[in-house]
Amino acid sequence: MTRSSSEPDADGIAPLIERWFRANARDLPWRPDPIDGPRDPYRALVSELMLQQTQVSRVVEKYGPFLERFPTAESLASAPEADVLAAWSGLGYYRRARLLHAAAKAIVEDHDASFPTHPDGIRSLPGVGRYTAGALASIVFGRREPILDGNVERVLLRLHARPDPPKDKATQDWAWERAQGLVDASGSPGVLNEGMMELGATVCTPNAPKCPACPLRDACHAYRLGLSEEIPTPKPRARQKDWFAVCFIVKHDDGRVLTETRARTGLWAGMVQPPSIEGDGAIDTPAAAEVLGIEPGQRLGAFTHVTTHRRISFGVYAGSLLGDPAGRAWVRPDEIHGLALSNAHRRVFEIGGVDRPTLFS
Ligand code: SF4
Repeated sequence: MTRSSSEPDADGIAPLIERWFRANARDLPWRPDPIDGPRDPYRALVSELMLQQTQVSRVVEKYGPFLERFPTAESLASAPEADVLAAWSGLGYYRRARLLHAAAKAIVEDHDASFPTHPDGIRSLPGVGRYTAGALASIVFGRREPILDGNVERVLLRLHARPDPPKDKATQDWAWERAQGLVDASGSPGVLNEGMMELGATVCTPNAPKCPACPLRDACHAYRLGLSEEIPTPKPRARQKDWFAVCFIVKHDDGRVLTETRARTGLWAGMVQPPSIEGDGAIDTPAAAEVLGIEPGQRLGAFTHVTTHRRISFGVYAGSLLGDPAGRAWVRPDEIHGLALSNAHRRVFEIGGVDRPTLFS
């Protein structure tokens, strides 16, 4: 592949991105109006952690209610973990909720409840890596710190027509350097950084980039060479591991539903589910029921849930408890959806009719 030796010029590109973003920024609940208006760092941290690995539309739904429940770092720091996980429910990747909780505690305990303003202090917070620290330092505090996420990296690789594998360390080192160059050339580091992310999310998209509408097209080498859709080089998809789960919807005579809490480590750690058995091979339902002390009833449904690393086949059955709950909890059906549930277990409960409390009255 031929690459032009002339590099797109940061001094020329940065103002184009900033101007474009000021005119085209999506109206999102964590953004001020005007776009470079003041921002609360705690709220920005919440939005940044929510946006990692979750679609913007889902974050838009969850951001406001989460902040109503935990409006400050202090309120989040003092909350029980189960409440934090419940408020995070629906966003997935619950490790982020635990890290956010730990970050709030660190702000309160290590920084006298004042959000650190220096990049090193921001980076010391749990859950805050180089990207998030750069985003907060630039967008909230106006510092000339770069950011690099998948969107920014894709824009940079295309601008320079580099076919390099995006996950390689050498590619990332190069991209961080380019991102720093753009920030150094910008009028407002926060507007530049957020504009790069926005451009990658809405115009320079992974598939079918909208080059004719792009403010950078005259400077973009991939566009000029007709390579926009070839860059970055797609990486081979890792095969997801097959996983199996059998869940039992067990109802008390008074309508309450039996729940248990998952292990503290691993997938969906510490979250709530119906009594379940999981494994990497097909599960014998009567044997699983016996292990759980449950008399199995009719099959209520089945579905497949896909996570980043697993393809999980769920079987959902009715059941009756044979002995005592053994550490499990009876929960009213109208309270179940307020608990910390994964999307998969929310679906399991719904298959069991638990989203319809009137059935239990
Ligand atoms: S011109 Fe096309 S490939 Fe280049 S940065 Fe813009 S959207 Fe991306």
